[in-house]
Amino acid sequence: MKKYILAILVLSTLTSFGQEKLNIISSASIFNDMAENIIKDKHHLEAIVPIGGDPHLHTPTPRDAKLVTEADLILVNGLSFEGWINELIANSGSKAKVVTITEGVNKLSSDKFANSTDPHAWMDASNGLVYADNIYKSIVELDPANEAFYTENHTVYRKEIEDLDNYITNEIRKIPLDQRVLITSHDAFAYYGQRYGIRVEALVGISTEAQAGTDDMMRIKKVINENKVPAIFVESTINPKLINQIAKDNNVIIGGELFADSIGDEESDAFGYVEMLNHNTQTIVGAMTKSKDIESAQSHNHGDQNNNNIWLYLIAGLLLVGGFVLAFLKLNK
Ligand SMILES: [Zn+2]
Repeated sequence: MKKYILAILVLSTLTSFGQEKLNIISSASIFNDMAENIIKDKHHLEAIVPIGGDPHLHTPTPRDAKLVTEADLILVNGLSFEGWINELIANSGSKAKVVTITEGVNKLSSDKFANSTDPHAWMDASNGLVYADNIYKSIVELDPANEAFYTENHTVYRKEIEDLDNYITNEIRKIPLDQRVLITSHDAFAYYGQRYGIRVEALVGISTEAQAGTDDMMRIKKVINENKVPAIFVESTINPKLINQIAKDNNVIIGGELFADSIGDEESDAFGYVEMLNHNTQTIVGAMTKSKDIESAQSHNHGDQNNNNIWLYLIAGLLLVGGFVLAFLKLNK
């Protein structure tokens, strides 16, 4: 009996070892979603900054300290995106491996601040592939036993990001060339603009910490007027007050809400990295081509009108001819 119990104990311990889940922590929701696409529910995944939170301005909480302390792997963007994270990790005494997932991306320097790199590299889907590759490598290193599983997921995810990259390229081309100017709250779209060929003008710099001044408002006003920009955009993690004011003052529409530093919540169509870039592209192209749509719809209606007129003339003509034929027949009786 004792042997039997011992065997069960050994077996259950072994099984629980086999099922032990690792804690994989990402600084922000975007990277957590990327990790989920490759790791699925094999391990515990969690983001430090919750959905809708602003990773530039995050203040670490006791929950964050606990997450970091218990982490086996921490995925960070780096490039000064999460200025608060190094201190959080250092103070927590965490033994986790910290991986900078922007390693190998094409970096853009900020044209507004000297000697600083723009952290928003994920906004270019070809960089998204590098993020996915780095996450894949780090999880295989940590859990080599499940390499085949991660490889399969990584391959599927890569394809999804490649398709997204092509989709965005084609969509942006629908905006008339002289109107391809994207105006947003903070300078998170430089990578997007560079990759997909749209000029970007932001109210404030690459961190949301900066405050917009009168100069910024005047600069945006000038860009709107010079390019006949039909729409400007608010961002999900930023107070829309100033952008709303600019829209009102310059008689342009708010084209919609864009996601830059966080994915959207479960109810939104931006609940994931791929979904977020997809949503942004649909929102931008939808609003920037709207005036064109109305024009072409109007000319289309004119076309319909013309067609209707042709039918009217045809029917009137037939009635007239019919009348003549009837009169002719009556006269010949
Ligand atoms: Zn940002």
